[in-house]
Amino acid sequence: METTIVKKLLKDYPLNQWLEAADGCQYCKKAYQVRVTWVDESGNYGDLEIKEQHEKSCIEQFEPESHSPRWDTAGWEFTEKEVTILEHTFRPIKLRMNVGPCVHCWKLVVGIPLILFIDEGKGGEIDLCFSCAEKLGVLDQLKKKGDR
Ligand SMILES: [Zn+2]
Ligand SMILES: [Zn+2]
Repeated sequence: METTIVKKLLKDYPLNQWLEAADGCQYCKKAYQVRVTWVDESGNYGDLEIKEQHEKSCIEQFEPESHSPRWDTAGWEFTEKEVTILEHTFRPIKLRMNVGPCVHCWKLVVGIPLILFIDEGKGGEIDLCFSCAEKLGVLDQLKKKGDR
């Protein structure tokens, strides 16, 4: 059981440093790289660059536009209340720009995270990367629900 809840904001990520993203190429699974380039005064919102990376054998490797970094907005805010799901306590996200974090491993998710809406979205959302969702058993839980 985790007792301390990590709450990272965009300002807690190093500026101008390439970091591994939570997700990556759907084919070769190589993680994307992200670099926070600007954070506003609140510390919550800013800009980042995204660089796709591929293994030599990947079919996406031959797409020329995938090599130059692209720009996107990043940032988020938390809700007031924590929620506990599958014995893990999270602080849901209330607002998110295009890029936000996985609230478990805190890597940034470039694509679409797995989103769990709390109280139909009124209580915010829990965004997880797919490897964390799998590790925490969230995917199994959702599959079970679907079978009903
Ligand atoms: Zn690839
Ligand atoms: Zn994660």
